Amino acid sequence: MAPFQSVMYKSMTSPESIIIPAHLLPRDGRFGAGPSKVRAAQLDALVADAPTYMGTSHRQSRVKNKVGEVRDGLRTLFTLPEGYEVLLGNGGTTAFWDAATFHLIESRSQHLNFGEFSSKFTTAATLAPHIGTPEVISSEPGTHPSPVTRDDVDLYAFTHNETSTGVQMAIRRPENATGLVAVDATSAAGGLLVDPKQFDCYYFAPQKSFASDGGLWLALCSPLAIERIERLAASSRWTPEFLNLKTALDNSRLNQTYNTPALATIHLLASQINWFNENGGLAFSAGRSSRSAEILYTWAEESDFATPFVRNASERSQVIGTIDFAEDIDASVIAKVLRANGVVDTEPYRKLGRNQLRIAMFPAVDPEDVASLCASINYIVGSL
Ligand SMILES: *Cc1c(COP(=O)(O)O)cnc(C)c1O
Repeated sequence: MAPFQSVMYKSMTSPESIIIPAHLLPRDGRFGAGPSKVRAAQLDALVADAPTYMGTSHRQSRVKNKVGEVRDGLRTLFTLPEGYEVLLGNGGTTAFWDAATFHLIESRSQHLNFGEFSSKFTTAATLAPHIGTPEVISSEPGTHPSPVTRDDVDLYAFTHNETSTGVQMAIRRPENATGLVAVDATSAAGGLLVDPKQFDCYYFAPQKSFASDGGLWLALCSPLAIERIERLAASSRWTPEFLNLKTALDNSRLNQTYNTPALATIHLLASQINWFNENGGLAFSAGRSSRSAEILYTWAEESDFATPFVRNASERSQVIGTIDFAEDIDASVIAKVLRANGVVDTEPYRKLGRNQLRIAMFPAVDPEDVASLCASINYIVGSL
């Protein structure tokens, strides 16, 4: 069959063969929720430094200085108050949850449960035999619950941005609360504004708004959180060394990690933090996400086939947009067509099970590319 005929044949049978005109396509087609788009400049900087950085010891100054750059850069980016410290360790956010059950939760935590990620920390705390049964406050997907101040709660577990549903919540200490406020900011950190006085521990991994790779956790800790870590680590509670936050604290103060980290991850992360800080800090990085979100949600609201999944506009995430489609349009087909055209990872969170696309709008994503994505989706729907 001649190539022309083959294209014609396919376009009649499979929507995936729809070709989106080049002038409509985003210049960069990565819209995944993590690992997410890494900017070319970050990779160029890594390649430039590679001969003296990659493949060298993480116990020597070349790498330790890079870790120091990350820690100082985060202190600047979040304008951390006196006494707050930046901790890091291996294993990503999922490992940090387990560590938190040992050295951040004293006896009882309260969890706001409103999606896949918030429920994972809840499960970790519920199953941990060395702490009490947590209090769980849940709400329907697409919304978030509010905390309730309790005397016997020593840690409030919030999620700044629930990546599975595209819901963000404002980070505020519960009124008159004495417990620590620990925030899963894995997808939020760097892309959403936050006041550090409102948290004791703001933890994340670098493969989302920081445009790096996975496998590392970082935690911005207040003096109260540091005090908690030191006290629980000195108690009789047995703790696996890998999850020992006092060990992480001691190593972090020396710009090291307990065991070997991925050096490229640290380098890419440092580049992204520097890019944020050199351009105006969190106002710049979160500003890019909020511009993208404005474009996406305005498009969806004006469209007659797409609707923002999150009803309450103030809870709509500026970093992860979830868009429902009308019944007669199959969102999974749109995602497939986009993928076939080089626009990837717009599929919804698998367990949410909605006729939906999920679009990451982390600071690395160009707001103009979000506009192009909307135009591309319009084109696909018009061609179906
Ligand atoms: C991605 C994500 C996680 C999981 O991070 P890992 O580094 O893969 O463990 C946890 N919480 C939220 C909110 C996330 O978006």
